[in-house]
Amino acid sequence: MSPDDAKPVAAPTAAAPTAAAAPTVTPVATTAAAPPAAFGPGSVTVPPPGDPATFPALQAEIRQLAHDHDAVILAHSYERPEIQDVADHVGDSLRLSRVAASAPESTIVFCGVSFMAETAKILSPDKRVLLPDLKAGCSLADSITVEQLRAWKAEHRGAIVVSYVNTTAAVKAESDYCCTSSNARAVINAIPVDRQILFLPDMFLGLWLQRVTGRKLTIWLGECHVHAGIRPADVEQWHRDLPGAELLIHPECGCTSQVLEAAGDDVHILSTEGMVTYAMGSKADTFLIATETGILHRLEQKAPGKRFVPVNREAVCQYMKLTTLEKLRDSLRLGVYEIDVPADIAARARLALERMIAIG
Ligand code: SF4
Repeated sequence: MSPDDAKPVAAPTAAAPTAAAAPTVTPVATTAAAPPAAFGPGSVTVPPPGDPATFPALQAEIRQLAHDHDAVILAHSYERPEIQDVADHVGDSLRLSRVAASAPESTIVFCGVSFMAETAKILSPDKRVLLPDLKAGCSLADSITVEQLRAWKAEHRGAIVVSYVNTTAAVKAESDYCCTSSNARAVINAIPVDRQILFLPDMFLGLWLQRVTGRKLTIWLGECHVHAGIRPADVEQWHRDLPGAELLIHPECGCTSQVLEAAGDDVHILSTEGMVTYAMGSKADTFLIATETGILHRLEQKAPGKRFVPVNREAVCQYMKLTTLEKLRDSLRLGVYEIDVPADIAARARLALERMIAIG
């Protein structure tokens, strides 16, 4: 579905798709977020790389356990390569949300971070949802609390709240729509032009949306520490070194706004799934990648023979790297850690998520 085809589903403000408002290029981040909860390299201890010689046996054990426990294994494309390789489905939040909602298995093991497992539970309340490591959080989701959101809404009564999927269940429950980087543009375009939109929590994605939709958004000043750490200088350096390469940038990146100012035909702002699809179809053979480096494994699998160069090799999400094969095996074997979401919060969050999935 193209953005122009998008329609809200049972939204409280339901309306036909609308044309974009007059373009604005002025950031309107009107409310500063409180400092996020502790995150960054010091907040979690990432297990060292495993011994590849042990992977085949562990993966065989995991596949058998998944079969025995009627479980489907979902892995985000930022996970370790050996986790992606053993999963039933690999992808970004939107793709995995859809899979979680329709999977026939009674158990979902989510190799990702906690808001993703919460999302799976909200969409599949009758299923058991397991997260192999409870410390797998998200600095972006931590950048706004439900109390902060309620206060922000009180300052902007009547506004439509659009939350990026990287939020807690409680924040989703206070939102009208969820979105991912794959469909954020379509979600914004589905909202009547005369309605104020509060967009949270990622300011770089919000600024990019403002530009591509021509809508004036009120943007929360949150960020992902990994993507915010990819700076314009990283991109410029690589563009100089590999002038023929195509540049694929995730809209959460701190470099996005500035790179867009000078963007040419070889620069593409894409979600992680968008990067995979683009690389598979492109005639180019070399790509600069500006997102978490876990995506390189998936890109190399889906577009073999092409060269993918991370613009910043330090762009590693330590939360995504917490899940090891041993933890995944133990999660299946012991039934840990089961994720639950209170029924009242889940019911309200589900509405926002279902609108996200329906929009495409
Ligand atoms: S890469 Fe950033 S947004 Fe994604 S899970 Fe890690 S901290 Fe959160």
